[in-house]
Amino acid sequence: HAAKETGEPYRHWSPALDERAGEHARLGAELQAALQAGHFVVVYQPIVALPGGRVAAVEALVRWRHPQRGLISPAQFIPVAEQSGLIVELGAWILRTACEQMAGWRAELGPAAPDRVSVNVSARQLARPQFPGAVADILRDTGLPPRCLTVEVTETAVFGGGQAVQALHQLRALGVRIALDDFGTGHSSLGLLQTVPVDVLKVDKSFVDRVTEAGRHAVIARALIQVSDGLGLTAVAEGVETAEQAEALYDLGYRLLQGYLYGRPSAAPDFGAARPPGSDADPSYAGHRTF
Ligand code: C2E
Ligand code: MG
Ligand code: MG
Ligand code: MG
Repeated sequence: HAAKETGEPYRHWSPALDERAGEHARLGAELQAALQAGHFVVVYQPIVALPGGRVAAVEALVRWRHPQRGLISPAQFIPVAEQSGLIVELGAWILRTACEQMAGWRAELGPAAPDRVSVNVSARQLARPQFPGAVADILRDTGLPPRCLTVEVTETAVFGGGQAVQALHQLRALGVRIALDDFGTGHSSLGLLQTVPVDVLKVDKSFVDRVTEAGRHAVIARALIQVSDGLGLTAVAEGVETAEQAEALYDLGYRLLQGYLYGRPSAAPDFGAARPPGSDADPSYAGHRTF
């Protein structure tokens, strides 16, 4: 049974994989129609600044509102959209929607608006030479200042160098900020930080999850904030769920936190909730959501 244990000889005949392949094809066929039908929505998750809990930025996250199957997670359909190539069109729609929304908040809320919106961009989008120009067009059309946009890319998307890195230089030249997402989980090499233009390191949830425990994960969270500070980058801790994690991260030097503790992704995030009414007048107010 040695061969069976490795699973290798059976991989392509596994009923589970057949089902998954069928599901993939079905999803792929539906994606284009869903985009035309307006079934995608963009939700926004706060990234808060400590101390005080001001919503400094929001991350745009796409959702598929399927009429029969309900809300479908991007983890399920983004890989399919990447494979089919639809991510180019879908990604452009997400970027435009997020920039329009951010421009709207700025007009509506003034200084109470977040400073920037962060948008995930897939490897396939970044690899197209047209991408930086498309971003410039969207910024121009929406009137959003480039400094108000951050593009989130994974280490894996830029690891090979080439066009993706060129694109990041062009985005940077526009005034757009670059964040490395899920930092520490991809084809990580700290050397990447010397060759790739980066402004923000988003430290992956896996390191945040166990930051309160003694051991490997706390060590890595500590090392990553040191690298970030040392290189003059901005660190964001992802997936913060408990006050204990927030306190531990704050003690390590993290000042930008994102996670369910501060808010779930929402179509209409509450930018005022971090401070109760009148708290601005009271400098002694630390806020229950400080951590
Ligand atoms: P990501 O960019 O790392 O986004 C963070 C994910 O973690 C989001 O999942 C968010 O809802 C989730 N999250 C945030 N805080 C917490 C927390 O405290 N606990 C837990 N358990 N989860 C938390 P989501 O929205 O399901 O997105 C998953 C991934 O799908 C994203 O990971 C990103 O890689 C991709 N994605 C989402 N939206 C887009 C998009 O518009 N374009 C592209 N290319 N990819 C996207
Ligand atoms: Mg992200
Ligand atoms: Mg992330
Ligand atoms: Mg992540």
